[in-house]
Amino acid sequence: MVRTDGSSRPRVVVLGGGVLGVSTAAQAAAKGAQVTLVTDGALAGGASGRSLAWLNSAGDFPAEYHRLRMLGLDRYRAFAARPDSAARVALDGGLRWGDGVRASFEHQREIGYPAQWLSRADVAERLPAVDAGAVPDGGALFNPDEGWVDLPSLIDQLARDLVAAGGAVRTAAGRCEVVVAGGRVTGVRTGSGDVLAADAVLLATGAAVPGALADLGVRVPDATSNALLVRTPKVDHGLRTVLNTPRVALRPAPDGALVMDAAWSEAEVVRRDDGTFDVPDATVQGLLHEAAQVLAGRPELSCASYGVGRKPIPGDGHPVLGPVPGLDGLHVAFSHSGATLGLVAGELLAGEIVDGAPSPLLAAFRPARFG
Ligand SMILES: Cc1cc2nc3c(=O)[nH]c(=O)nc-3n(C[C@H](O)[C@H](O)[C@H](O)COP(=O)(O)OP(=O)(O)OC[C@H]3O[C@@H](n4cnc5c(N)ncnc54)[C@H](O)[C@@H]3O)c2cc1C
Repeated sequence: MVRTDGSSRPRVVVLGGGVLGVSTAAQAAAKGAQVTLVTDGALAGGASGRSLAWLNSAGDFPAEYHRLRMLGLDRYRAFAARPDSAARVALDGGLRWGDGVRASFEHQREIGYPAQWLSRADVAERLPAVDAGAVPDGGALFNPDEGWVDLPSLIDQLARDLVAAGGAVRTAAGRCEVVVAGGRVTGVRTGSGDVLAADAVLLATGAAVPGALADLGVRVPDATSNALLVRTPKVDHGLRTVLNTPRVALRPAPDGALVMDAAWSEAEVVRRDDGTFDVPDATVQGLLHEAAQVLAGRPELSCASYGVGRKPIPGDGHPVLGPVPGLDGLHVAFSHSGATLGLVAGELLAGEIVDGAPSPLLAAFRPARFG
């Protein structure tokens, strides 16, 4: 990319301090761009700070989405091997049971996704932290290549990479907006009114993306939902894998805690008119109860904290990644699978923003698909 002021290092402003923004910012800086990351509050203050962050390609996805997710897993494997990284990435597998899981296993075998069918006895032997009695008679699906990431620690590491590559991080910048003139992006205005001039801007504001694009006259269908992640204090659980069961999904967290969510508990969260959330205590207790039922010894679980807010979900369920049509220099990152895609999407977007060459791997995910 050529700078509008004629020099060779493009000025890139990334708006949003979640995993997609920080990953792209760090990788754009590594490619030589002058990068400023700006976000309203703290880093990981949005969905990335309260994500289950199960790393997987476990669904029946279109081939191009499956490929991108698999590349996402590969990038985590490489990142986990970095000796200097403080990010917590664990690739110890995922165990799943419930309706449709056997069909999922057959599909995964057809497409070559690593998958094993475990009987109850297998679960008892190989995953002793799981209560094998909770596994259905027919067994459960184990995906050995899956795992989880602690996104705040990853974001912290990526922000350090960004600064080490000469970039800048500006937190507590208030509600920022993209500045456009004559059909081209020119910068980002912070909450206090300063304008950070840019040759390219990445809009990576999570659940706020569709609204920000609508303000610029661009429509991206939105299926964003409420989300709730409950965290226990440190507990003696022995769990290493991610568990996806009919009533709860859970995984270990770095400090010896467990984190968990479920579709039914999300549905019980109420978003008030002023944008705050009401989380019934019975919902939190119910989730903790469900988690205890799938763990060996049925430990007493309590709530240390919970994160509640919006979970970014594009209207068609698929990531929205790349240049925004009609607004030169503006790029977007908006995804439901931002944890799994965090590293690979950042890498590919950084390549497009800095080098100007479209990645064929992102061709199916362009915002232009919405017309
Ligand atoms: C409960 C839950 C479970 C999940 N489970 C999984 C999973 O298992 N696997 C998976 O892959 N993904 C999962 N996800 C999704 C994944 O966590 C998200 O896709 C990802 O974290 C989104 O990252 P982001 O960078 O797009 O947005 P965010 O992390 O939301 O970051 C956006 C940032 O932009 C800031 N911002 C917004 N508007 C402005 C503005 N105008 N000015 C300045 N700053 C602004 C926000 O404060 C925030 O810090 C889950 C999410 C949740 C909530």
